[in-house]
Amino acid sequence: MSVFINDWQDDEATRRRSEAGPTIFEQDLADRVYTSQLIGLVPDLVMHGGGNTSCKTTTTDLFGNKVDVLCVKGSGWDLGTIQARGLPAVRLAPLLDLRKLDKLSDEDMVNIQRANLIDSTSPNPSVETLLHAFLPQKFIDHTHATPFLTLANLPHAKEAMIEIFGAKMALVPYVMPGFELAKTAALIYDQSSEIEGLLLEKHGYFTWGQSAKESYLKVIQHTNMVEEWLNQHRAGPKVQAASLGKRLGEREVNSFLQNLRGGLMNALSENATPPVLHLISSDTALDFLDRDDIDLLSKAGVATPDHVIRTKPHPLLLRSADIKKGKPQIVKCIKAYIKDYEKYFARHSGVSLVPKKMLSPLPNLVWAQGVGLIGVASSASAAKVVTDLAQQNIKVMADGVDAGGFHPVKAQDLFDLEYWSLEQAKLGTSLMRPLQGHVVVVTGGAGAIGQAIAQKFLEAGAEILLVDNREDSLGAACEFLRKDVETLAVDVTDMGAAERIVNHATAKFGGVDVLVSNAGAAYQGSIIEMDQKSLRDSFELNFFAHFALAQAFGKVFKTQGFGGQMLFNVSKQAVNPGKNFGAYGLPKASLFFLVRQLALEFGGDGIRVNGINADRIRSGLLTDDLIEERAKARGVDVPSYLAGNLLRKEVEATHVANGFVALALSFRTTGHVMTVDGGNVEASLR
Ligand code: ZN
Repeated sequence: MSVFINDWQDDEATRRRSEAGPTIFEQDLADRVYTSQLIGLVPDLVMHGGGNTSCKTTTTDLFGNKVDVLCVKGSGWDLGTIQARGLPAVRLAPLLDLRKLDKLSDEDMVNIQRANLIDSTSPNPSVETLLHAFLPQKFIDHTHATPFLTLANLPHAKEAMIEIFGAKMALVPYVMPGFELAKTAALIYDQSSEIEGLLLEKHGYFTWGQSAKESYLKVIQHTNMVEEWLNQHRAGPKVQAASLGKRLGEREVNSFLQNLRGGLMNALSENATPPVLHLISSDTALDFLDRDDIDLLSKAGVATPDHVIRTKPHPLLLRSADIKKGKPQIVKCIKAYIKDYEKYFARHSGVSLVPKKMLSPLPNLVWAQGVGLIGVASSASAAKVVTDLAQQNIKVMADGVDAGGFHPVKAQDLFDLEYWSLEQAKLGTSLMRPLQGHVVVVTGGAGAIGQAIAQKFLEAGAEILLVDNREDSLGAACEFLRKDVETLAVDVTDMGAAERIVNHATAKFGGVDVLVSNAGAAYQGSIIEMDQKSLRDSFELNFFAHFALAQAFGKVFKTQGFGGQMLFNVSKQAVNPGKNFGAYGLPKASLFFLVRQLALEFGGDGIRVNGINADRIRSGLLTDDLIEERAKARGVDVPSYLAGNLLRKEVEATHVANGFVALALSFRTTGHVMTVDGGNVEASLR
């Protein structure tokens, strides 16, 4: 049975061609986009940029002259979702001229490719553009498909390739991507007759066709041939009998993740970007980590060189015994990793002619026995890319060992890729946002104020967990935010709700940094007539739920050991009572006190505690009906009521949200409550 399925459909191809324009250029691109997407949508064919496609076609310039061009994948585009503009057209003749050169620097190569773009606003053509240009075929597909990576890293890759493909495939010895690889591959192509593809040693695979369909069908057929060959060599998993059954439970995993995050953060400076963790704990991953050759494999390298940019040359391996010993041992292992990385940098940068700038020496990937594969990055999405590549790598390693060995590129080649001048040039150009990497939990997240808070924190670069008791409203909040943020439907007044919230955030991101305890509800009625139950209910939501969250987050912050902060939505009711709002003001006054008490008790751990006193914000708490009622009670119209402050302007949810972000960024402020009410002398704090 074939593992890789042919998804080509003639109807779909015809539909796409009829929707594209009539020119040859548009027709060719329609086909090129279609099969690029088909390939890109299968992770084991293309994992995060692990492949690129091209076609040679003709376009017309402004003078009506025909120009031969190469349309090749542009950087920043994902094959699975690529569109025509993701395949920038480059004049072919100047690219072909380059083959006459003996040497070409990467910078000159990029410059010439850009200088010959038909549309100057296009993205940079792939670094493998010249290889696509030098091969004379019309449609070309290049993948880092998992089976091909296993084959490419075998110690006897050539013999295995001949066994599978006979004379239909040629081997290109390892050369770093760029001009030299393009020349080497093209020469081998020219010297081989009737080959259908190239196996790039320790890197990947190329094939081609006169049509997009022909090339695509070869990708599927060839990859299946390698997969079938590997399947014949697969043995059962190599697991240490003694370590089976040592998988950690949810509570242990969470405390481990918090310790790991803390350990990584402790190795960085104060106010550095906290790392976001992404955990994969599939059976495949856990079985792999139990192998008796795990130590060797952890030092072996990566399946294809460009993975090194995301994963570093090696993961940090934490054994069950290390994890069991707790944080001090984890910190020790991290320090040993850093030392090794610094040595690796010193050793290989020494032979480089151009001075190199050392990247962060922290691991980007952790192999934790009994826990899983953990990606470490400055955002959740980047951490997930790391674990995706990590999963592909362990598959390649396991299959490789079964089929003869896993022999990837050597350390110097990995270093050359990791410290590639084109990558070094990017350093410092990507703007880190002020709350990048911070995990922020917002309760009452589906309401108007909660959504505004989430939006402002997202803009500041944070990762968000939105908590609310209404599941459907959380869906609507995601729509409002236009982002698929992490959500959790839970009533904060339920027993154990606070623990569920911190556990959820830890499982998704590795820990927490900021609590915005915002959930609340207004309880009305005169004190003299009010029943005790209403008051107690109000205390449950408006005080005790905040208190429980403070305890749960405080514990995680202490475990992580690098500060953290709690922000509370208090209310001007805490200091300036409103008539018939006593049942709301009483718990809020207690919360106001709690902010100061927590600041006092947590200050020594670097944990900051602050709050906001807001007033008259349109929200689920202060509905339009209620606003009308309050306005009438004061004998004014609605706009005057809402702008009834010193600034004479309505205070909106975004103003409250800005206040929370400002407090989050006020690194030397704690025990402070800020008013966001447009100015109200009666509610001023003294
Ligand atoms: Zn490649």
